[in-house]
Amino acid sequence: MNEQTAGAAGRGAPDPAHRAVREQLGVYALGHGTDDERAAVRAHLDGCAGCRAEVAALSPLAARLADVDPDRIDEDPPVPPELGAAVLARIAAQGPRPVDLAERRRRRTRLAGAAAAVGIAAAAFGVGWIARPGPPQGPLEQVAVQVADDDISATADIVPHTWGVEVKLSGAGFTAGEVYRLVVEETDGDAVTGGAFLGVGPGQLDCNMSSSVLRQDAAGFQVLDASGEVVLSSVF
Ligand SMILES: [Zn+2]
Repeated sequence: MNEQTAGAAGRGAPDPAHRAVREQLGVYALGHGTDDERAAVRAHLDGCAGCRAEVAALSPLAARLADVDPDRIDEDPPVPPELGAAVLARIAAQGPRPVDLAERRRRRTRLAGAAAAVGIAAAAFGVGWIARPGPPQGPLEQVAVQVADDDISATADIVPHTWGVEVKLSGAGFTAGEVYRLVVEETDGDAVTGGAFLGVGPGQLDCNMSSSVLRQDAAGFQVLDASGEVVLSSVF
């Protein structure tokens, strides 16, 4: 026994084994240690209220730790498969920030106005839907285009919708203000109007026009000018 310990004992401090036992309390609370070690701790606890309190405080934690499978501690916890959906649902539930909502409402109003204007024009003149080039929607089938008018250049893709073939026509050189009609030819020889559009001169024109002819019944299409002349044609 060294001087310091002797001095501590001399001031009425607890058993000099206290510090050593104190460090063993966690092991003891977890139920570990040899029989001798556990017996020594129990003997100390009988006379040390501080250590008894420490063991009492550790016991709930020790009980929870007992449920932990040590073989799994180092494993990466698997990400629950529904976590991504749950996070998205949480974000959706919180809703957009007010500023976003207001901006979205303004945008929706503008879009509705633009759509109404285009719809009225399309209804009044039977014109085709003139759209900016965008990402392709659905399977596009590029088709060859034969141009009969040297001023016109054009390419076309068709989209086989369930309600009929859509012709996406891109080109330039259609006489400004002149009405052009698209006619889809069926394999049995019939021709079905697929829409119409106004020429815009030398500027680029991208025009989507739908017909009621299913892809398997469509043999090709023609674009006719105001006088009925074929300015371009395509055979699928
Ligand atoms: Zn103690």
